[in-house]
Amino acid sequence: MQPKDSTNNEGFKGFTNHDCPFLPCHEGVRGDFNCLFCYCPLIAYECPGPYDVFTDKNGITRKDCSDCTLPHNGYRGAWNFIQKWLLKPVVWNGQPQTRKYRIKPVKD
Ligand code: SF4
Repeated sequence: MQPKDSTNNEGFKGFTNHDCPFLPCHEGVRGDFNCLFCYCPLIAYECPGPYDVFTDKNGITRKDCSDCTLPHNGYRGAWNFIQKWLLKPVVWNGQPQTRKYRIKPVKD
């Protein structure tokens, strides 16, 4: 096994689960549909995604990420996006999104 920094094989950066009954779970994904981050690692952190905020039945404030495709946009694209935002994670403060959501081209 090679360390991921010394291999040209990028197979670990994503995959598409064609057997999943929910595929595609988000519309508008660009590039290959990346299922690796089905449960987004940024759910508890600040992120640039277009989430809505709701309060669940236990009174806990949560993100509704239905409109976000960022963790799914391509194998390399989604991988790079998640790695970038996990470099210096900032715990989400429970407030609505204030970052302007931008659509950038996916590099795959
Ligand atoms: S809005 Fe997108 S990037 Fe942010 S936590 Fe939800 S799925 Fe992840």
